[in-house]
Amino acid sequence: MLTVNAYGATSATEPLAPMTVERRDLGPHDVLIDIKFAGICHSDIHTARGEWGGTAYPVVPGHEIAGVVAEVGSEVTKHSVGDRVGVGCMVDSCGECVNCQAGEEQYCLKGNIGTYNAVGKDGQPTQGGYSTHVVVTEAFVLRIPDGLELDVAAPLLCAGVTLFSPLNHWGAGPGKRVAIVGLGGLGHMGVKIAHAMGAEVTVLSQSLKKQEDGLRLGADHYYATSDPDTFTQLAGSFDLIVNTVSANIDLDAYLGMLAVNGTLVEVGAPENPMTVAAFSLIPNRRSIAGSMIGGIPETQQMLDFCAEHNLGAEIEVISADKINEAYERVVASDVRYRFVIDTSTLS
Ligand code: NAP
Ligand code: ZN
Repeated sequence: MLTVNAYGATSATEPLAPMTVERRDLGPHDVLIDIKFAGICHSDIHTARGEWGGTAYPVVPGHEIAGVVAEVGSEVTKHSVGDRVGVGCMVDSCGECVNCQAGEEQYCLKGNIGTYNAVGKDGQPTQGGYSTHVVVTEAFVLRIPDGLELDVAAPLLCAGVTLFSPLNHWGAGPGKRVAIVGLGGLGHMGVKIAHAMGAEVTVLSQSLKKQEDGLRLGADHYYATSDPDTFTQLAGSFDLIVNTVSANIDLDAYLGMLAVNGTLVEVGAPENPMTVAAFSLIPNRRSIAGSMIGGIPETQQMLDFCAEHNLGAEIEVISADKINEAYERVVASDVRYRFVIDTSTLS
């Protein structure tokens, strides 16, 4: 067992604080990763604050992990000491069901094992990336291509793949009109990736405050959803809308912007259920869908795609003692566009 420094939550209402966690001894297929950077995803905040229910405290969040392999188990073939690697939202799955076999481990029929707030195959709680080291089975460790610095690569492990997967699945590319709702951690990667795929990209943000950034990141158009005219002006105009908003929004209003056969994909995961009127879907054969991160092969595909197109995240690197402040800023939509913890500040 390795006792490592970490930062985590002891209850839904207390601020996060320094703590230690145990990392298991290396099994034959395990990799010990020296974590260099960990992104702060809004899901970390939902979990630390118990907004989705089911949080087991203490919890060390963090599922956007980038680091270097420090040690490998006796039978590891995929990674070597010194390799630059990443870990996303999952650290294991059954490996046998139809979805795991198809490389869609996120939809494992037995439930994938989350990087934190889950129970590992060893029966111990999993703890995430706001820490100095983590032990992960080799199949769930991704290769970070040379072209990507570790700090800007970390957010790709969740934010990157969560947008890459639906954009890929619903065919974002030349001739497709794609809207990204919310220009935060997920949304800004959605803009970059959809643009690199060749789609016509529109940002739908609460205000025009970040318009200049949005256009620089690759958007063709930028609208404020606080302006009711946006919804009439853009009625029926998108093939695909990806909603990244962490709060409940009026989905009916957004569905009205879909063209015939258009799909609104929900990736934002707000605390409360959403309602949809049947007549927001029926008249234009519209669909509403959801999408969760991406499988391991798709995550590697995304990392390679981002390296090829030079798409890192836009980040603000912080020390561990700034995590609580960063949480407040994320909740206030005051993030440009991902906070990344320099884990050397944990020791
Ligand atoms: P984030 O950085 O906070 O971005 C969310 C953005 O949504 C904000 O920057 C803001 O953009 C917009 N927004 C926030 N509150 C709003 C409100 N009340 N009304 C309208 N717009 C609002 O969060 P994130 O890390 O990107 O995560 C977004 C959501 O995705 C979270 O719920 C997270 O749990 C979820 N998530 C899902 C998956 C998955 O697999 N499906 C994976 C990761 C995260 P503007 O200022 O531009 O309006
Ligand atoms: Zn996440």
